[in-house]
Amino acid sequence: IDWDEGTGWHDARIGPREPLALDPATAVLHYAQEIFEGLKAYRLADGSMALFRPEENARRFNQSARRLAMPELPEETFIAACLELVKTDRDWFPSLAGGSLYLRPFMFASEPFLGVRPAKQYKFLVIASPAGNYFKSGAPAVSIWVSSDYTRAAPGGTGAAKCGGNYAASLVPQAEAIERGHDQVVFLDAAEHKWIEELGGMNLFFVMDDGTIITPPLGGTILPGITRNSLITLAREEGLTIREERYSIDQWRDDAASGRLLETFACGTAAVVTAVGRVASRDGEFTIGSGGPGQLTTKLREKLVGIQRGTVEDTHGWVQRVD
Ligand code: PMP
Repeated sequence: IDWDEGTGWHDARIGPREPLALDPATAVLHYAQEIFEGLKAYRLADGSMALFRPEENARRFNQSARRLAMPELPEETFIAACLELVKTDRDWFPSLAGGSLYLRPFMFASEPFLGVRPAKQYKFLVIASPAGNYFKSGAPAVSIWVSSDYTRAAPGGTGAAKCGGNYAASLVPQAEAIERGHDQVVFLDAAEHKWIEELGGMNLFFVMDDGTIITPPLGGTILPGITRNSLITLAREEGLTIREERYSIDQWRDDAASGRLLETFACGTAAVVTAVGRVASRDGEFTIGSGGPGQLTTKLREKLVGIQRGTVEDTHGWVQRVD
C-alpha cells in the first residue's frame, strides 16, 4: 500500500515477492525513517490458521509511526493486509505440527529526497516466511551476555518504537554476545548502567521465591512486548503478583546466589517463552536455579503456546482465525 501527502493511503495490492526499485536518494536509505512489526500465523489444532493478537501489533505499529513522524495506518487495514497474505500463502504453510508463518509488516519513507524532514511518500508492505526454532541450538535455556559498553535506548529516544535504527545500534553488542559464546545480549539503562532493561529481541521476567514476579517497567526505553503483556495477564490469572519495577544487575546476581530468585525467563513473538540459564558479564558469571527451565517458566509457556495453538481455551479473544 502506498501513501502520498494529499492522497493518503492508496493502491493496496498483493503479488509475488520481487525486488523493489528505489531511487538512490530514497529518504529511508539516508535517514532511516522505517518501522516494522513481527507476528506469527499459527496452524490451530483443528487445522485452521490464526493470528495472535494482531490488533496489538497494529496499535504498536502506529505508536512507532508517531515517534518516527510517519503517517498512521488504520488498524483494520494493517490486520486485513496480514490476513490476506496468510490466505494467499496458505499453500506453502508448513503442515508440520509446531510450524508457524512469520509475518513482517513494515513501512518506510519512499520519497526520493535528501534533507532532514519527514518524507512525503511512504510504502507499507507485509512479507511472510515459514518460521522454525528461534535459537539455533534449540536450547531449553539460553545464555546471555550483559553489555557494559553499549546501551540500547536512552530516555527520550526511540527505544519504545520498533524501528530499524534501534536494531542497527544493537548489532555490535549482539555480535559481542555471540562471539563470547552466548545467545543474546541484555541491555542495561543508559543513565546509571545498572538497571536491567531487555534482551536484544525479548522482554525479561524474574521469578522470586515469595511468588512474585518482577519485570522491568515500560519507561519509554523498552519495547512494549505483546508476549510480555500476554504473560502478565496469564500470570495474574494464576494468582501470581506481577511487579513492574526496576531490578538491578547486582540484585540479579545476589538473588540468584541466595536462592531468592528461582527463575528468569525471556519472551517475545519469535521464541515465545525461553528460560535464561546463565548470565555473564565482564565481572563474571552466574547460573539461575538449576540452569534449565523452571516450573513457572514451563507452565506459562505451555499455557501461552496452548492458547496460540488452540489446545487451551482462549478466554481473552486473543486468537483471530484467518478463515
Ligand atoms: N524487545 C525487543 C527489542 C524486541 O525486538 C522484541 C520482539 N518484537 C520484544 C522485546 C518482544 O516483543 P513481542 O512480544 O511483541 O514480540
